[in-house]
Amino acid sequence: MGIKTVGVYSEADKDALHVRFADEAVCIGPAASKESYLNIPRIIAVAEITNADAIHPGYGFLAENAEFSAICADSNIKFIGPSPEMINAMGDKAYAKETMKKSLVPVVPGSEGVINNVDEAMRTAMEIGYPVMIKATAGGGGKGMRIVKTVDDLEKNFIMATTEADSAFGNGAVYMEKYIEEPRHIEIQVLGDKYGNVIHLGERDCTIQRRNQKLIEETPSPFITDEVREAMGAAAVKGAKSVHYEGAGTVEFIVDKNRNFYFMEMNTRIQVEHPVTEQVTDVDLIREQIKIADGRRIKVKKVRSEGHSIECRINAEDPDNKFAPSPGKITTFHIPGGFGVRVDTHCYSGYIIPQYYDSMIAKLIVTADNREEAIARMYRSLDEFIIEGIKTTIPFHKRMMKEEGFIKGDYDTGFLEKIGIVK
Ligand code: ADP
Repeated sequence: MGIKTVGVYSEADKDALHVRFADEAVCIGPAASKESYLNIPRIIAVAEITNADAIHPGYGFLAENAEFSAICADSNIKFIGPSPEMINAMGDKAYAKETMKKSLVPVVPGSEGVINNVDEAMRTAMEIGYPVMIKATAGGGGKGMRIVKTVDDLEKNFIMATTEADSAFGNGAVYMEKYIEEPRHIEIQVLGDKYGNVIHLGERDCTIQRRNQKLIEETPSPFITDEVREAMGAAAVKGAKSVHYEGAGTVEFIVDKNRNFYFMEMNTRIQVEHPVTEQVTDVDLIREQIKIADGRRIKVKKVRSEGHSIECRINAEDPDNKFAPSPGKITTFHIPGGFGVRVDTHCYSGYIIPQYYDSMIAKLIVTADNREEAIARMYRSLDEFIIEGIKTTIPFHKRMMKEEGFIKGDYDTGFLEKIGIVK
């Protein structure tokens, strides 16, 4: 786009690729995220010193931080993402659910907002029926959730959930919803501009998860019908429109065995798995985010989608040892290539993975005419991806590409437990 870039980095990330690729790079502090990537004054200071017009927050750290978005606005720096009000509204999951319900988007049956005490929890659970799920309103990253199967387990779990939410998110508020059995996680990518236009770019199926954390994502979903797809897209657009959503966002749904779908939450940022959508729609989502932030209008039209795309998250984890983190020096890093293969990564041979941050070290995305070919291409690419010196999830993904249930598209979020990969 011809825009000059400034990268910020912590001392631990001085050797990461974004530092080399940016036109300018500035160190914002030591490894601890609190003192670097979460340190708002330092980031704003760098933006001011380097004369940056806008900040793209990526998908971690401050990407869904309303205070950061507000401070950017106050400092006359464009935050590439929604307003602080919008981030707050959607960041509180219980509130977001109520908002969507009012706009007639189907939501998982559950409590109306926050549950304040055990008695209320008992009553709500009785009404919606067991099993239920207690969720932290401030939860994220698959954390702050507890399944309760019977009334005898409720009190204990309610107290634990509240305590955990408080220590993990600094906010003990929880809400309750029906636990959907054998569910699939399917989400819709949306884009909205400041003129009230909202479009969707189809779905992503993120059902392959370990402890509620996504590992494989794909589009189109092998599970839903065109009719359901259409209805989900329309619901996502309706929900986003009703809140005047601006920027790129994701409306997450949980889908039951009978293909009923329910709103779960909205992420007010670009997501890790966005490349699969880009591959089939030919829309560069980051570019769209920047254009929207620049006040441009999105063209409202039905987005064309072609082919099938799958993403495998390559993590520095040992799949043979309960996915334990495996930081350290990458001695060999050979990226697969060829037709329909895309790798997004900050790593290279000789790079030392710091122990401080997320374990994801690369995203391998393949695209082909149909799902069968995409799976074959993914296997070939995984085989060609050589990473030495550390353990990675590549062997896990290779196994998945040969797994019958996966190939058939016959699985739910509990698939890894079912095939014994996760105990
Ligand atoms: P987070 O913000 O932590 O990612 P989500 O609300 O998106 O939390 O839920 C993460 C995952 O947890 C979902 O993809 C799904 O696998 C599971 N989950 C969430 N709510 C329910 C529910 N009501 N019933 C069954 N599984 C659920």
